[in-house]
Amino acid sequence: MQIGITGGAGFIGAALALRLQASGHTVYVMDAFTDYYDVELKLERAQRLQADGIGVFDGNVHEELGTWCEAHTFDALFHLAALPGVPGSLTEPHRYIEDDIAMTVTVLEAARTHGIPHVFFASSSSVYGEQTGALLEQQATGNVMSPYAAAKYSAETFCRTYHNLYDMNVTIFRFFTVYGPFGRPDMALFRFIEQALDGQPLTVFGDPVRDFTYIDDITRGMEQALEAKAIGLFNLGANRPESVRDIAAMLSERFNVPVRSAPARTGDVSMTWSNTDAARQTFGYVPSFTLADGIERMIKWHLERR
Ligand code: NAD
Repeated sequence: MQIGITGGAGFIGAALALRLQASGHTVYVMDAFTDYYDVELKLERAQRLQADGIGVFDGNVHEELGTWCEAHTFDALFHLAALPGVPGSLTEPHRYIEDDIAMTVTVLEAARTHGIPHVFFASSSSVYGEQTGALLEQQATGNVMSPYAAAKYSAETFCRTYHNLYDMNVTIFRFFTVYGPFGRPDMALFRFIEQALDGQPLTVFGDPVRDFTYIDDITRGMEQALEAKAIGLFNLGANRPESVRDIAAMLSERFNVPVRSAPARTGDVSMTWSNTDAARQTFGYVPSFTLADGIERMIKWHLERR
């Protein structure tokens, strides 16, 4: 298949591109190399993709999606480009409306006008808001805690609207705290490992519990959904809530650095925990990486870069 990925120089997009290309698909990515975090990391990922023969288009979805779609005949489009992160959404909510809602509508419109048969959208566990227990897809009601979550929930609603209006094949994934090599510097595990290797204290905000999901489990799930032509809404998580404080304590002992407590950040929920029965039943998704194994792989990657 010919596959397009927006945000393909991002953490998840680049890993997905490599997996799908290795499976025999022809993959094209588009990325604007935004400065939400270190652009060098995105350029490095893009170089890695190009080395594998993946076409990388340096372009902005807001302005150049049409041009890119005209140049290819996509069988499926994964929309991963976004402005991520909860804290920034509290200070700049309008940017999240632009980059997480309006940009998704732009993608849906492009898919409709160019006849792209299947669109996959990257949503987030944050749409569940403040709830406890292993969460089923239908438990998200829009009662969220941050503009980021509100934007993702709204973008999901547009995806459903296009499915209902135009019979478009649309799949929504809700990712749960994805981690692994080549990750995002703003996320807790990346930050902890860098702080530990620098001999600095590990800062834990509040006492959160997160369903950390290894990048390879996420991209395998996405590929399974593509192959199964699965339509609908699916959690992609690890089914395993972990205390961020316990992880910091483990790294603190191993690298002999202290843990520093900071107040919980406004907008962050206290717990995320996925129920992934729907993904398992529909396309055979079973997360397989233990947190210990995933963290070892991450540490190895961070060490190799020093
Ligand atoms: P990322 O920031 O690494 O990747 C997003 C990419 O999109 C970046 O490379 C960025 O340059 C690009 N981009 C942003 N605006 C663009 C634009 N206008 N045009 C073209 N490209 C643009 O983030 P990620 O962690 O890989 O996340 C991918 C998707 O998954 C996002 O939609 C994110 O909200 C969602 N998500 C991620 C997680 C996680 O734990 N990483 C959890 C839930 C949801």
